[in-house]
Amino acid sequence: MKPIAQIIILLIFSTLLVGCFFDTFNYESISPQKVFHNKNFTWISDSSKHIKYYFSPNSVVAKNIDSIKVKSERYVARVLSLIHESDYSTSIDLIFTNSLSKQKELTSIASNGLANWKYNAIYYVYGDSLKVLGAHEFNHVIVKNLWGESTTYLWLAEGFAGYSDDFWGKYNLHLLCRYLLDNNKLLPISVLRSDFDDYSVMITYPESGSFVKFLYEQYGYVRLKFLWQQGDGSVEAIYGKSFKELEAEWIALLKNYNAQDVNYKF
Ligand SMILES: [Zn+2]
Repeated sequence: MKPIAQIIILLIFSTLLVGCFFDTFNYESISPQKVFHNKNFTWISDSSKHIKYYFSPNSVVAKNIDSIKVKSERYVARVLSLIHESDYSTSIDLIFTNSLSKQKELTSIASNGLANWKYNAIYYVYGDSLKVLGAHEFNHVIVKNLWGESTTYLWLAEGFAGYSDDFWGKYNLHLLCRYLLDNNKLLPISVLRSDFDDYSVMITYPESGSFVKFLYEQYGYVRLKFLWQQGDGSVEAIYGKSFKELEAEWIALLKNYNAQDVNYKF
């Protein structure tokens, strides 16, 4: 892979990071109402059932808006299906910038993806060199509004958002975690819970996604919702098992995958 491609892939992966931190940015300051006051941007808009789209005239988004609308509604449907909800009644503002520098200029945050869930707004970078779109930020907006903000730190929200895409880059989440396991990079769940910020997003995000996928698919969404709302300190009351026991089951599942063809550099 060429270095520039690696950088772009890394940017795509790291995009999802900033939008997800609790309370590290001021939600009101990056509300659509605030950012639309920025005179350096000109907007046109379009809409679909759940989403209002904002983008620059003559931009890559403008040229591809029809397919972006179809994909974006699929992401909403995917998230609603995961939480067994039939609809989401609040319109989501999906605001596109053309580049990371433009994203920073608009929101003051250098992130390729940003979920301002309190304002039902998502910011994605979608331009010539970087095209970011996915269910991840839709998960943050919809789940946090319908289930409330989880008291569990990052791994659960990021894992559920990652599971909504069900891939990390081009890789199946469980397959990639088998690769991390084989290369002694997989973190103990206890470490993922306590020190999420201390490790690369290239590990913490797909690992959280894989573990949440396991919890969801083995034990169902009702328990996951309880975990979300009661916090991960209640895991034994909810699952009848400790994190250690659940982790052992998850690792056994990963061992069904063969990661010898995975080429994952970070
Ligand atoms: Zn996220």
